[in-house]
Amino acid sequence: MARLNTGQLSIETRRVSRRPLSHAALLFLASASMAFVSGCDLLLEPENVPASPRPTPSSTPTQTPEPIETTTPTPDVDEDVEPDVDVEQPVPTDETIPKVPDDEPATPPTEEPTPEPTPEPTQTPTPTPTSPEPEPTETPSPEPSETPTPAPIPTNNVSPAFSYHPPGDLEPNSGLGAKDPTIYVPDMLFPIKQARAYPQSQVYRYGGGIGGGDQCDPRNFTASWRDNFCENRSSRTTSPYCPSAGVHVGQDIRVGTPEGCRAERSLLPSERKRYVVVAAEDGYISNIGSYTVNVRAGGRIYRYMHMNMKALEVSLGQQVKAGDPLGYVSNDFGGTPTTLHLHFEIKHNTSEYGWTWAPPYTSLVKAYERREQAPGEMVVEE
Ligand SMILES: [Zn+2]
Repeated sequence: MARLNTGQLSIETRRVSRRPLSHAALLFLASASMAFVSGCDLLLEPENVPASPRPTPSSTPTQTPEPIETTTPTPDVDEDVEPDVDVEQPVPTDETIPKVPDDEPATPPTEEPTPEPTPEPTQTPTPTPTSPEPEPTETPSPEPSETPTPAPIPTNNVSPAFSYHPPGDLEPNSGLGAKDPTIYVPDMLFPIKQARAYPQSQVYRYGGGIGGGDQCDPRNFTASWRDNFCENRSSRTTSPYCPSAGVHVGQDIRVGTPEGCRAERSLLPSERKRYVVVAAEDGYISNIGSYTVNVRAGGRIYRYMHMNMKALEVSLGQQVKAGDPLGYVSNDFGGTPTTLHLHFEIKHNTSEYGWTWAPPYTSLVKAYERREQAPGEMVVEE
């Protein structure tokens, strides 16, 4: 294994010279491994699960009850089960929150139910101006440039902040990744405020349902980053970016240190406040589920999963700025245990695919480089 110091994902990705298995062989491995994926993110460490009773939705005054909560979780449950309430499911959605009209998803309004409108808790109606409107014949001001210019990343005399496998290079035998160098959100903030972060599979590494072992294993906290978008799951979720079906459509991010992991594990889930999760972009809280928080930011929806849902720093409808704290890393999963990590998704609305999940890995690499003010180094396997 060699390491290549670079900040250019789009160039170096194509140099990966590790000889792949044949496509047919990979498909066989993928399908074979999928037979064992029924545990998904389930953590096979019963002793790690606090003895507190599983939260019952009926006891908490959530504003957006979710059908999944009323069913008994099965071993097949994984992160993708929580309804995609923002745009697709016939449950209260973003549209329950009045918002600017150009922020609508492509979903036809006829597919939406007619839920009770949720009053916007933070926005006050703008008073109607009494003065006459200016003449509409004036020349409109020029459109602002749509291409943000992120702060440059210093490259001189800075040791690598982290190392990362190329996009789409998943954990061995965990599926076929999206070898897509596109950085879909080049200017977003990294969703963890300060702590070290290790994007990696929560199923196929130490402590995962397939990897076995201990989630606080120090090797989880020294590993080079791994994309796990498109990772094999037992769900039927598909993505136009993924070569196969039944996939994971976010990035799992382990956070902190082995010591922090053990300390957090010893706490009740509701007490975990060690690792702060922040908004990646300006927006508003468009949904809060039993283990998800959505931030709607213009044409994107960021979905955060498994935070400490009893200690969120935001409420439904609240406006947030990039960097504002949303909550804390935990393992909330609607009563089903998973590892301590943040599951992070970006959904965007494209002309090709409509609303779909964007591979978030490359955007996370860039965001972490900016946060750390140092470049990462890409791992190139021989
Ligand atoms: Zn995940």
